[in-house]
Amino acid sequence: MRFFTVARHDAASESLCAAFCTAAVAAGLVLDDTYPDVVVSIGGDGTMLHAFHRFQNNLSHTAFVGVHTGHLGFYADWKPSEIPALITHMVTAQHDVASRTVQYPLLHIVLHTHTDTRTVLALNECTIKGADATLVADVRINDSVFEHFRGDGLCISTPSGSTAYNKSLSGALVHPALEAIQLAEIASINNRVFRTIGSPIVLPKHHHCDILPKKQRLLLSIDHIVHPIDDILTMRLSVAEQKVHFVRYRPFPFWDRVREAFLQDEHFT
Ligand code: NAP
Repeated sequence: MRFFTVARHDAASESLCAAFCTAAVAAGLVLDDTYPDVVVSIGGDGTMLHAFHRFQNNLSHTAFVGVHTGHLGFYADWKPSEIPALITHMVTAQHDVASRTVQYPLLHIVLHTHTDTRTVLALNECTIKGADATLVADVRINDSVFEHFRGDGLCISTPSGSTAYNKSLSGALVHPALEAIQLAEIASINNRVFRTIGSPIVLPKHHHCDILPKKQRLLLSIDHIVHPIDDILTMRLSVAEQKVHFVRYRPFPFWDRVREAFLQDEHFT
């Protein structure tokens, strides 16, 4: 089996990454930075975003697994002390990676600008904000005008991204088995003149949402990557055809992760 590692840039993650590579190669796995079967992210959920974007052109072939060097993550469930067990699983199941994966939906973004059309995938979400003023944009759903938005911005998330920025916007937490995307407002203006729906909305697969910003300087984020941009004509958002594959050598139930991340403390068990 070919593997590659992506580590967060801190001393603990980088040294764990070196130790992982040494042990994995000694166990017979092959380090490959171009066409790996499995990419091991070592750090946090943010590190998995980096790993995903580096290998997003290999999604039909490459699966991902995360080791966390801080707190338990949504994409990173293996502890550093469990690396020997993880390598053993990788060796044992190396000829059958596909049957050991779960698949999560992704966000498909088509950007039409004055000069070109670009397609991008997001693992967590995409946001659009005014760079130096309120975002003014028309929102259309399935080609019908839905609302005229004014506010700080809009966040469109995947189910697995629903626990990230979307949650800070009071969006719903969505189980990644649901093929859907969620549109959440970032500080919309609502008064006698301006009106938006005011609630996060969830779109199923095969629906699409278009955002048509007024000509203005914008900040577009795709997961951890922020692009200043000022020539977007329209942005079309939908559930992607491609999915991301995560290796599951043991159960990692979504609601357990939600509880551990947001509820569990020593007084509430
Ligand atoms: P960051 O600002 O350094 O960290 C953002 C935090 O979000 C980290 O604690 C990260 O976990 C966590 N996170 C990432 N994906 C998650 C997920 N799917 N579920 C729950 N938590 C998640 O930025 P970053 O590490 O480069 O990550 C970029 C992400 O930050 C964006 O995709 C966006 O979701 C999030 N973000 C959130 C807000 C907000 O909540 N107000 C604002 C901007 C961006 P780790 O510590 O394990 O890496």
